[in-house]
This record gives sequence, C-alpha cells and structure tokens, in this order.
Amino acid sequence: MLEHLFINICIFISFLYFAGIVLRNPQKSPIPMKVLIGSFSGVLGLALMYFAIPLDYNSIVDLRHLAIVTTAVYIGWIPALLSASIITVARMIMFGVTQEAIVAAIGMLVIGITSSVLSLLPYRRLVKIQIMNMAALMIIFISLQSNIGLLNALKIISFHTITSILVGFIIYFIAEQIKRSNEQYHQLEQNATKDFLTSLNNVRQFDVSYNQALKHAQERHEKLSLLLIDIDHFKNVNDTFGHQAGDEVLKGLGKVLTHHSRSFDIVSRNGGEEFSILLIDCPHSHGMVIAERLREAVERHSFRISEEQSIHITISVGVSTFPDTVSPAGEEIFEQADKALYLAKRTGRNKVCDFNMVQAVT
Ligand code: GH3
Ligand code: MG
Ligand code: MG
Repeated sequence: MLEHLFINICIFISFLYFAGIVLRNPQKSPIPMKVLIGSFSGVLGLALMYFAIPLDYNSIVDLRHLAIVTTAVYIGWIPALLSASIITVARMIMFGVTQEAIVAAIGMLVIGITSSVLSLLPYRRLVKIQIMNMAALMIIFISLQSNIGLLNALKIISFHTITSILVGFIIYFIAEQIKRSNEQYHQLEQNATKDFLTSLNNVRQFDVSYNQALKHAQERHEKLSLLLIDIDHFKNVNDTFGHQAGDEVLKGLGKVLTHHSRSFDIVSRNGGEEFSILLIDCPHSHGMVIAERLREAVERHSFRISEEQSIHITISVGVSTFPDTVSPAGEEIFEQADKALYLAKRTGRNKVCDFNMVQAVT
C-alpha cells in the first residue's frame, strides 16, 4: 500500500514538473494554454486512477480528485472543469456505463464544479487546497455510500482522508517551488532584456532583435527601417530640473515612442537618452514620414516632471533603411542611422536626417 502511495506521489510530481515547463513561457492568449493544462490534468487524473491504491478490504482509492483541486487552485476553473470532464468521460469509456460508474462520474463532475467555485475564495493556496480536498472527499463519500453502503464507505473514506491530506501538503510544497522558480525565471528574463526605467527593450535585446529583424527582412525581401533617436540638450534638463525630473522625461518619451509605433515595431532604449525604433516591413520614404511625425509629436508633448510642472523637449532622429539606403548585406544600417543622427545634431537639432543628406554634405 505504501509503495502505491509512493507511486502516486511520483506521478503527481512528474505532472507538476511538466505543467511548470508549459507555464514557464506565458502565451499572449492564455486560452490554448488553459486547454492544454486542463487536458494534461485530465490525463493525470486517469494515471492516478490507473495506479489506484488498494486497501485490505477489497477496495481501492485513488487521488484523481487532487488533479482537479490542484488545477483549480493554480490555473483556474476552466481547466479544472475540463479536467473533471475528461476524467468523467474516460471513466465511462474504461469501465462501462454501469450505475456505479454513473454515480462516480457525477461525483467527479460535482468535484470539478465545487473546486471551481471554491477557487474563487480569497484564501491562501494551502488552505484552498485542503478546503477543496475536504469538499471532494465529502462528495466521494456520498457517492461511495450510495454504491457500497455506509459502513464500507466510512472505512474507505477514513483512509482516503489521511492520504489525501498528506498528498495535498506534498503537492502544495512542490507546486509552490515550481511557481516560485518560474517567477524568478521571468524576473531574470525581464532584467536581462528590458530597461528598468522605461520597460522598453534594453540595448542587449535591441542587438538581438536588430539581427533577427534584418535576417527576417533579407529572407522575406522586406524593408526594414531604423530610427535612432537622441534627446536634444538633455543635459540641460538634468542640470535645470534635477536627475529625477530627467528620469521622468525618459519614461515619458518611452511612452510617446511606444504610442506612435505599431505593436510589432521594436522600441528600445539604447542607453542614456538614446532610443531606437526598428520599423518592420517599412520602406525608407515611409520611415522618414514616421520619424518626422514622431519628432513633431515629441515637440508638442508636455512631459510631466512633477505634480505641478511639465516641460517640453525636442529630439533629433537619424533614419536608414534596408535595402533602400544600404548594401544587400545590410551591415551598415546602424552606422548610417548614427551618422544621420550626428548630422541632425550638427545642423541644428530637432530634425530628421537620413544617409542621403549625410552624403550630400560631404
Ligand atoms: P545633445 O543635444 O548633443 O544630445 O546634448 P545632450 O545634452 O542631450 O547630450 P550629452 O551626451 O551631452 O548628455 C546626455 C545626458 O544624459 C548626460 C547624462 O547625465 C544624461 N543621462 C544619461 N542617462 C541618464 C539617465 O538614466 N537619467 C537621467 N536623468 N539622465 C541621464
Ligand atoms: Mg546622446
Ligand atoms: Mg542628447
């Protein structure tokens, strides 16, 4: 019996581990992920049913209700209900549609619904697991009693309660570890790729995205425009209003740039008061129009630096485009935009320049 309990715990831990991997990379749309986890949990329920724990008196108990409970607590009610439905249907298919099977199946569905409702309670996860556990055991007891009589049901449920509570604690411990390690993973990923002040891509991520976007453009024969943006006389902002006000301006500019880009453009803070936007599938002429529109938007925008004070800033922008202004290899796209930005600075600031203008003046 102990060895069966051990096998059940091992099955549970393996499933938790794989669910943790699936959940590590959150999807933009959570529904397919929830369906996947719900199905996964249903399979876990079936595995637990298959490896049921035999008792002395000719009967078995299994921990499938804990698959539903865990899913309800950690993922939500949709996958919990899906899991309960899979277990119910599979049980009917495996054991046939007898009266016993129908009672047990209804019991599982009721556990699914009850767990879904209880998952909305504002309690700690451990408390929720054990409350749902108790509710599930009560439902199992009721359906058992109608199948095998009160006395036998009492014998089974006492053993079932002890093992369920014990396994409930173990699941909680392991699931919390996995959850924490996934959260730390996300935090590390965020720190490695995002700029802490503006939450835009940092320069390292810009580099990765820049190479990817260029490769993509070359493969698909698309155009790729790069805007390099630098705030004009930003040192004056810091000197006049303080470093914190400067930080507020940087955050504000990050928002303006994001607001004026499409969702798939790549906006980064390349360092200090320098930003960039990679405009995907965008020809040079259009890139120039967007840069000019951005420059005007920043000039008009009031940047709030404290409760009562707002200031105005301007930006200079250098633009280059693959393959319109660079060779097919596309290596000079950054260098060209940088030279164009330098020209914009040299010739008055608050303006947009491209490499054609650089060549015209040299
Ligand atoms: P230009 O028009 O030629 O670009 O002049 P500028 O003053 O903007 O350029 P400069 O390179 O001389 O100064 C950049 C300033 O940006 C200096 C630095 O203190 C400030 N800076 C860089 N990073 C940060 C930051 O994270 N926060 C704040 N508040 N200031 C920063
Ligand atoms: Mg600069
Ligand atoms: Mg500057």
